[in-house]
Amino acid sequence: MDAILEYMEKYDFENLFLCQDKAIRFKAIIALHDTTLGPATGGCRMWQYESEMAAIEDALRLARGMTYKYAAAGVNLGGGKAVIVDDPKRRDREPVFRALGKFINRLGGKYITGEDVGTTLKDMEFIRMETEHVVTLPTYLGGAGDIAPMTAFGTIRAMQACCNRVYGYTSLEGKTVAVQGLGAVGHNVVGQLQELGAKLIVTDIDSGKVHAMVSQYGVEGVDADAIYDVECEIFCPCALGAVIHDETLKRLKCKIICGCANNQLKEERHGALLEEKGMVYAPDYITNAGGTIYDTDRLGVGGVSHERGKEKVSRIYENMERVFQIADRDHIPTYMAADRMAEERIRQIAEVKKYVDDLRP
Ligand code: NAD
Repeated sequence: MDAILEYMEKYDFENLFLCQDKAIRFKAIIALHDTTLGPATGGCRMWQYESEMAAIEDALRLARGMTYKYAAAGVNLGGGKAVIVDDPKRRDREPVFRALGKFINRLGGKYITGEDVGTTLKDMEFIRMETEHVVTLPTYLGGAGDIAPMTAFGTIRAMQACCNRVYGYTSLEGKTVAVQGLGAVGHNVVGQLQELGAKLIVTDIDSGKVHAMVSQYGVEGVDADAIYDVECEIFCPCALGAVIHDETLKRLKCKIICGCANNQLKEERHGALLEEKGMVYAPDYITNAGGTIYDTDRLGVGGVSHERGKEKVSRIYENMERVFQIADRDHIPTYMAADRMAEERIRQIAEVKKYVDDLRP
């Protein structure tokens, strides 16, 4: 990206805010992509970038991703993102996050922030001191607390929809699932799949986490690189992005790729290539929306309800089915069908919103 406004025009961004305070060494970017469905919402990342342009581009790209995620999930929120340009290990966090909270408050609810890479729940508490426009809060501050179990639950709902497409039934009993990454979400995926009777093969670069899963659930553990070669029906990436590429596609033996990791396809063409190989891909942002669906469910309805939140997360199954319908209808790979589903919803709701409720001038 060399021209910001041109880039914003190309991808239909609404606003970009730059914030700074020299006295506390604070520099931040807030990007609002599309607010057709509701306030721009998306976490706050703290990261050091090669250049200012790289930071702005990241904020914009991530904000746009949130628009698609919420639209496809059936949530009435738009896409936004904040980036604090700084070392994520910076120690004096209170002034930095309270400053961001002040700037977010100025936007009057048009942007709602939350936790992301490099930020923690504690940081969100500092933001909350200055503004109410923040999600991912601990339960004692009215938030939903740890959302990883719901991200895992949503991932499994997507997996069941994939199973139905491939085998004609949703049961995961007896299916072999290879889980890559046993962090916050991955270890919950393992626990929940175990209860559903799946056979699990797991890995992590942290061998301590593999040993813990093996001894807790009696699952099979393998070395990190060996996960691509195991015999399985489902490959479940729950670690890093870009794990689906030419080399791994030569090795994977599964029928389904469905996991919570963000940006799993190294390049978009890999989303088409895997289908040529007869695999079904659950687009990542459809699959991993569970945590944020659960987390944002309380907005506007007066608080957290586990039952209501979980019910909404469960609908990831129907969202996946819709992705498959669009893929079949338009003869396109699933990753593209997901984008189309999001775009169609935004277009349709924009139509609905043109009706004015109050006809007074
Ligand atoms: P995490 O950092 O808690 O866990 C990631 C795990 O992957 C760690 O245990 C790490 O050791 C392991 N790992 C890293 N590289 C690996 C490799 N090459 N092979 C095997 N294991 C490897 O992260 P998380 O919160 O569990 O998130 C996992 C993924 O899901 C990320 O891509 C994240 O962006 C995405 N995601 C998470 C959530 C959520 O609710 N936490 C929501 C949406 C998307």
